[in-house]
Amino acid sequence: MARFDTTEFAQCLDKAHALASAYLQDLPHRHVGARHGRDEMMAALRAPLSRQGEDGRAVLDLLASQAAQGTSACASPRYFGFVIGGAYPVALATDWLVSTWDQNAGIHVISPLAAAAEEVAAQWLRELFDLPRDSGVGFVTGCQMANFTCLAAARHGVLRRAGWDVEADGLYGAPRIHVVTSAESHITIDVALRYLGIGTRALHRVEADAQGRMLPEALREKLATLEGPVIVCAQAGNVNTGAFDPLREIAGIVRARDAWLHVDGAFGLWARASQSLRALADGIELADSWATDAHKWLNVPYDCGVAIVRNAEDHRTAMTSVAAYLIQTGGLERDAVDWVPEFSRRARGVPVYATLRTLGRDGVESLVDGCCARARQMAALLAAEEGVRVRNDVVLNQVLVRFGEDDDLTRAVVAGVQDEGTCWLSGTTWHDLAAMRISVSNWATTEDDAARSAEAIVRVFRSLRGR
Ligand SMILES: *Cc1c(COP(=O)(O)O)cnc(C)c1O
Repeated sequence: MARFDTTEFAQCLDKAHALASAYLQDLPHRHVGARHGRDEMMAALRAPLSRQGEDGRAVLDLLASQAAQGTSACASPRYFGFVIGGAYPVALATDWLVSTWDQNAGIHVISPLAAAAEEVAAQWLRELFDLPRDSGVGFVTGCQMANFTCLAAARHGVLRRAGWDVEADGLYGAPRIHVVTSAESHITIDVALRYLGIGTRALHRVEADAQGRMLPEALREKLATLEGPVIVCAQAGNVNTGAFDPLREIAGIVRARDAWLHVDGAFGLWARASQSLRALADGIELADSWATDAHKWLNVPYDCGVAIVRNAEDHRTAMTSVAAYLIQTGGLERDAVDWVPEFSRRARGVPVYATLRTLGRDGVESLVDGCCARARQMAALLAAEEGVRVRNDVVLNQVLVRFGEDDDLTRAVVAGVQDEGTCWLSGTTWHDLAAMRISVSNWATTEDDAARSAEAIVRVFRSLRGR
């Protein structure tokens, strides 16, 4: 049996530190996309599971030697794919400490530190987003699980009002729940409904406008046709356009029907931290639950999402675990198992605490404002090129671009830019037409990064246009 040896820790951690520093140094300069695919990665990594094992530092070297080719530079200031945040230095460093402490942050008795950091971070987030201060908050793996957690609380809440105990009796024989979303809601809402046994056939999709905003009139009409418990899922920040559903109006309609209003604000909820953007999310505080991500716009390393529920009792009842062998607290101490689907879990709220503490309100505001300014800058630079059309109102950090009014050309420009390597972004289909998606979600993206990236995109477009 090996014994605890600080020398070996030091050797491995020193090596990891050196390798991480080299990776970070290269990050702003390297080709932004992953260069190698499965073949190269399997060739590099595949080996029989040996009997004797190997030296840990050699394993670190092996992995790191493949990293520049086999990873995307997601934390690069010129990575604009999907909606992917970078990582602040303090967030990354805190994440290292979280691994070092190796806490199971599921219950307070194991980690008073993790529990208190999450409790304080939860309070800061409620203040930053200006949501009810006594809402329940859970730190989950991402917005998928935040949507799941919030909708589990919603399922509990609407069935409780209908006189049904879903935690004890499940859904067999329960009143049928209807769920209403817009045609543009995120796929993770559908997935959450599958996990929750509600099923996607319970979904009613109401029409959205050209920007992807739910039409309140369509919602009102739909609700008038539904009987029994209803959950409405609105959206703050469409994954393509960045558009916000008209939340105040929607909240009024949902209230009148005594339904539950959930808002998917994976990145859009962060608009609440900005004086100049918060009007976009006006009325969001009237909802019953909110799902968001910290690994997107707060720029903590993967993974971290946040589920917030107005009625903390609905939240807790939907999530709590009680077992004889657990030492659970009856007092003020926070047991994370009460607020999230996981049992054992990483102390993922601690990097949120450290990042918010480091940035302060002004820091978060300039992060959000800065990304949106870079998005507008790229949109303006691209729109100035003949044959290039920006398809969305750039209200937030998302830009949709079409080239030569042609699907094939647009897809070719996306592929060409990915291959060229100055920046990385992906494509989508928006209202039946191909488009390039640009998402600016990284604290480190400068005006120069945005300008260089726009130039690279235009260069690729020009080279493909004539063909
Ligand atoms: C990214 C995103 C999600 C899913 O979040 P994950 O963190 O990937 O689980 C849900 N909704 C919207 C609007 C998103 O942008």
